[in-house]
Amino acid sequence: MKKILAFLFLLLFLFCPKMKKENSEEYYKKLRERMVKEQIEARGIKDQRILKAMKEVKRHLFVPEAYREESYNDYPLPIGEGQTISQPFIVAFMTYLLEPETTDKVLEIGTGSGYQAAILSLLVKEVYTIEIIEKLAKEAEKRLKELGYSNIKVKWGDGFEGWEEYAPFDKIIITCALPYIPQPLKEQLKEGGKIVAPMERNGIQVLSLFTKKGGELIEKVCDYVRFVPMRGKIEQEKEE
Ligand code: SAH
Repeated sequence: MKKILAFLFLLLFLFCPKMKKENSEEYYKKLRERMVKEQIEARGIKDQRILKAMKEVKRHLFVPEAYREESYNDYPLPIGEGQTISQPFIVAFMTYLLEPETTDKVLEIGTGSGYQAAILSLLVKEVYTIEIIEKLAKEAEKRLKELGYSNIKVKWGDGFEGWEEYAPFDKIIITCALPYIPQPLKEQLKEGGKIVAPMERNGIQVLSLFTKKGGELIEKVCDYVRFVPMRGKIEQEKEE
């Protein structure tokens, strides 16, 4: 009997720390490393700076608690208000298309959880990000501040208008789908600058990379994607 009890205690000692560990930072770090290797590197993204940033940002802290365990899986997740955090690979791929440089000032439309902004903030000088849903904007701002991302500014508003105060931008990333690039965003992009955006085309969405040349945007279609649609002014306006 004594022997059995001793054995049971031994089991408890062996497994309790392990169970705790599974919720720890070490555990999530392992999931993050696996995510980068299997979902991002394996699909051809080799840029070491981007891979490092994806290994660093704690994605599980950008999703609702109920989804933490799933946060490093190969799909998007709900973040409340009917919105989603993109699949990790899509975040990495859009970041790659943007060719982030350490001197860049980047504008993001569609803050959502703030995850894409956090990844970019490790690769560029400053990130300005706009979110149309007040609750998400406020939550993302608080989260980014608490996690120590000091080169990101969050604004609650309609991204259609851009952010004149901080323009011009070297790069613009749009993380909601839209039928055309609004005029203010074109104007707030530097000559030679890039825009990455999911574009609505005849009922499907394509991921496009635009480069501003001679004041005009030259488009290159890169992939098929699925994003939530852009809301606000773009729903009423026609392309100029
Ligand atoms: N980049 C986010 C995911 C974005 S989901 C992340 O890393 O988590 C798309 C977001 O775009 C949603 O939060 C949605 O509310 C926002 N959005 C939609 N229309 C917008 C607009 N006109 N201006 C700013 N944000 C908008």
